Amino acid sequence: MSYEWRDRAACRSTYPEVFFPISRTQPGRRPIPADRVTPRRICTSCLVGLDCARLGLTALDKGWRHGIYAGVDLEERGARQALLAVIEKHSVTT
Ligand code: SF4
Repeated sequence: MSYEWRDRAACRSTYPEVFFPISRTQPGRRPIPADRVTPRRICTSCLVGLDCARLGLTALDKGWRHGIYAGVDLEERGARQALLAVIEKHSVTT
C-alpha cells in the first residue's frame, strides 16, 4: 500500500494531537478535551479524504480504535459506517 497521498494531506502541518488525542489512550497523562470540530473542519478541505477513509477502515480491521481519519473518530460508535459513507461520497463525486 502506498502512502504518498499523505504528502497532500491537509493535516500535514497540524499538531498530531489534533488527530490523535493523547488523553484517551495514555492513562496518567493530563486529559485534553476532545475537540472533534477542528479536525473535521480540516478534513473537509482535504484532497485525500478517500485514501484516508480507506486507511481508517484498515485501522479498524486491525483493531485500532484511536485517531481521526477523514473526519471520523475511530472511537465513535458507527465509525465503520461513517468511513464507508465518506468512501461512498467520494465515489459519487469523482
Ligand atoms: S482527511 Fe483529514 S485526517 Fe485524513 S489526511 Fe486529510 S486532513 Fe488528514
